[in-house]
Amino acid sequence: MADRFGSPLPQPLFDRLTIVGVGLIGSSLLRAARQRNLAARLVAVDASEAVCARVREIGIADEVTSDACEGVRGADLVILCTPVAAIEIVARDVAQHLAPGSILSDVGSVKGAVVAGVQPHLPATVHFIPAHPVAGTEYSGPDSGFSTLFVDRWCILTPPEGTDAKAVEKLQTFWSEVGSNVEIMTPAHHDLVLAITSHVPHLIAYNIVGTAADLEEVTQSEVIKFSAGGFRDFTRIAASDPTMWRDIFLNNRDAVLEMLGRFNEDLAALQRMIRWGDGQGLFDLFTRTRAIRRSIIAQGQETPAPDFGRRSTPSSDQ
Ligand code: NAP
Repeated sequence: MADRFGSPLPQPLFDRLTIVGVGLIGSSLLRAARQRNLAARLVAVDASEAVCARVREIGIADEVTSDACEGVRGADLVILCTPVAAIEIVARDVAQHLAPGSILSDVGSVKGAVVAGVQPHLPATVHFIPAHPVAGTEYSGPDSGFSTLFVDRWCILTPPEGTDAKAVEKLQTFWSEVGSNVEIMTPAHHDLVLAITSHVPHLIAYNIVGTAADLEEVTQSEVIKFSAGGFRDFTRIAASDPTMWRDIFLNNRDAVLEMLGRFNEDLAALQRMIRWGDGQGLFDLFTRTRAIRRSIIAQGQETPAPDFGRRSTPSSDQ
């Protein structure tokens, strides 16, 4: 990690970096950019006066404003870090204030809808390069960010066809400097991959936690008391920000529905195996899934520590 996220660059990559939306992702980017000297001047924009006041207090930007048009003026890199539904609105509002030759990017968890919503508003002189850092926590707001959030995580760029190669390369360097591995793909492919690796798992977590909350024969206190049996790990995901996840499902509808269709078919097959006592079928599937977990650990995307590195207790996971 020392090499990937080491000493500050001798020369900043950008003159003026503006982050719009200073929550978990935006504040982590500001912190990482400051630590690595990625921009000579850091500008923070947030619609909420309370967030602006907090950003001033913690001192993670050189300038703080609630006026996005003022904030993007003169910036050579602008990254929109608001919830997905606000990205198009902000882009439309600031479009005419963006500097010619500047890069406009975002970090939205959905890419097709963002590209369709943003691109029509932009002047041809601005390089639009959408991005999605596949990194996060279940926390929100400017205090939840940290500079190493992106280290050894993937960042997916989805530049529209014909985007200036030098601009793409510069944004790629920016993400590498905050510690990420960068991959380029089309927005449609991104949305399909993320539907199965992130969006459907979140939906399953929201659903199972909701089902447990509604049970009548098992008490709430029993659900909490015996949560280490597996339920607890779903609750972490189901604690994710409601605004962010509402926007993701509304904006990646087709890919999520496609993956949910497949999920339901496979669930029905599992149900049948349990009903008919097909132990071999269950065993074979569980063996395959265990191998997937092991390859995620082998690629450094998860810790091999038992119980996700939590302190082990005699009663932990069964
Ligand atoms: P967050 O912590 O809730 O931060 C979002 C910030 O944007 C909040 O301070 C919010 O203010 C502000 N905001 C909302 N509308 C705005 C507007 N129109 N203009 C300026 N600021 C506005 O959210 P986050 O977790 O950082 O997520 C931000 C984006 O990153 C989302 O698009 C999400 O899909 C993407 N993303 C998130 C994760 C993750 O794990 N969290 C991972 C990868 C990508 P208020 O609080 O007042 O609304």
